[in-house]
Amino acid sequence: MRKKIVAANWKMNLSLAEGKTLVEEIKAQLPALNENKLVVISSPFVHITQTAAQLNGVAHVYTGAQNCHQEASGAYTGEVSASMLNSAGVNYVILGHSERREYFGENSALLVKKMNQVMANGMKVIFCCGEPLEIRKAGTQNAYVQTQIEEALFGYTAEQMADITVAYEPIWAIGTGLTATSEEAQDMHAHIRSVLAGKFGAAVADNVSILYGGSCKPSNAAELFACKDVDGGLIGGAALKSTEFLGIIKAMSEA
Ligand code: PEP
Repeated sequence: MRKKIVAANWKMNLSLAEGKTLVEEIKAQLPALNENKLVVISSPFVHITQTAAQLNGVAHVYTGAQNCHQEASGAYTGEVSASMLNSAGVNYVILGHSERREYFGENSALLVKKMNQVMANGMKVIFCCGEPLEIRKAGTQNAYVQTQIEEALFGYTAEQMADITVAYEPIWAIGTGLTATSEEAQDMHAHIRSVLAGKFGAAVADNVSILYGGSCKPSNAAELFACKDVDGGLIGGAALKSTEFLGIIKAMSEA
């Protein structure tokens, strides 16, 4: 049975005190979770030891990070390695987010190196993919996302795919208030699963959780999460307010 996951991506937001309060508010009202219905909270690097300590002993809620460096260690001033994240209590690392691809020039070759580091250090990857608006307008989004998946994931083994969650995030929906319709999301998620099935086999593809990201909120989460191939969400803006994030977790826990 593949897992349903709601993952917060705080991006570059919140002071340490604000992050602490937010996690406490979430913990206080968590809906029922289990080993197949999980939450991940991906805070900025400086928050991680605090977030991990707050989540210590909280069942089925995991600590995430939003990036890591592609090398194991060394003279990379200002960077953070996968082994450091692991030592700080991180379980999941978001990689391939469109903001990292766009503002930091991250391409598939670099992402493969980063994913290798994350998995070599015993953590799981949340791999983001998704098309810009002009590609969606041209109707070539399936080929675009397929290329992202092929370039980044096809070098892995079927066993390694157990450590990779995919997040489909249409760039035109991230932080814009525009959301993919449930049909658009389902179509793309089914396409991603069929691409993975073509490479790794149906059984492996069936076990990969594919999250939707892009202006997901309590009002649209239930409809999105009801789609056959939508296994939860990667949440930006709505993860910064406990009531909104809890509403999305509730939608996932009831899906
Ligand atoms: C994201 O950046 O991963 C995201 C989904 O953002 P938002 O929910 O704000 O659109």
